[in-house]
Amino acid sequence: MRAAEMICTLATQGMELLEDIASGEFRSGDFGQTSSVAGSWERLAAVYFGATRQRKLQAAAVAAGRGLPVAAIEKIERHVRRLSRNAAISAWEMRVELCALRGTVDDIDREAAARVLAHNRQAPGSDNRGLRAFRGGKNTDAQGLSTATLTLPARDMATYKAHLKVTADALRAADPTLSWEQAMADAAYQHGIGGIRAGAVPPPTPFAVVPAPDYASYWRGEGGDTVFGLNDGTTITGRDWVTQELASIGHVGIFHPVDGPIDLYRENRFANEKQRLLAMAENLICPVPGCTTAASECQIHHLTAWEAGGETNSANLSVACRVHNGRNDDDPAAPPRNGRLVREPGGIVFHPPDGGPPRTNKHPVQALSAMALLS
Ligand SMILES: [Zn+2]
Repeated sequence: MRAAEMICTLATQGMELLEDIASGEFRSGDFGQTSSVAGSWERLAAVYFGATRQRKLQAAAVAAGRGLPVAAIEKIERHVRRLSRNAAISAWEMRVELCALRGTVDDIDREAAARVLAHNRQAPGSDNRGLRAFRGGKNTDAQGLSTATLTLPARDMATYKAHLKVTADALRAADPTLSWEQAMADAAYQHGIGGIRAGAVPPPTPFAVVPAPDYASYWRGEGGDTVFGLNDGTTITGRDWVTQELASIGHVGIFHPVDGPIDLYRENRFANEKQRLLAMAENLICPVPGCTTAASECQIHHLTAWEAGGETNSANLSVACRVHNGRNDDDPAAPPRNGRLVREPGGIVFHPPDGGPPRTNKHPVQALSAMALLS
């Protein structure tokens, strides 16, 4: 068997690998991985094949997880460890549910995070603010650079990035040679040292997609557990929205499951702004499969290129991130290189360059986009 074939086989036998490690006949440190990966596999083997009082659920999780790569099981375990003690579901029940997920490791990672978050939100006394942190910045790499990470509740991070984006856009307008990443780094540094006053320009407001039936029940005070997707790539429960956010959200688009868009509320801008907002509501995340860029950070893409006679109307517009807007095969007659976005009944799909069937973005927040809610 060739080396690549062995890795392909391993990609569907994560559970079998953990079982072998748990048997004690192999030392996971002998597989050539880093010590942290070896340690992670040892811990996973102990969870899924070690002693537990929940043997039935353990067996169910192992059965459900057969066929997954070990990398997917690692992601699942990472999210299970973040399940609230007060959640209505136990850690083992959560494992059984998540081990049944299928797709790429990235798809499973995001879907597992969304499902654990859904349970944590319902847990009494759930508050993630205590976990906010600024870490790192201690080490210098071979290029003389140092990296730190900032962890915030998702809504706070979206607000922070919206402020940075205003400054970054101004910096790029003044110096077009700046990359997006450089401009955001300059903005974060300048705000951090007090060199630029934060919020000098109001940041863009999130746009909430509300399916009409939930909108109605929300006003009747029955929709407290409805989860809404926001175009900055985060979600919010109806309860949080009512108590904290409604006053600060500038645009609320109402979509009827049958009739389509009903209206855009608090909307007082130009027609092209309305089209931009509706395109963001239609896809809360860049529609290219695997992409994680929020609609509020996307560009407006003409599905039929402007040069080819494509008009600027809602049917011909979609959000797409900078990268995927730039890489899109705008000429459908030319040989495919990167694939292209196309509007089909039910929404925007991605036609891959290999001529395979059209695909959609499986990001959990994308499932809260207007057209996904309507389908
Ligand atoms: Zn993208």
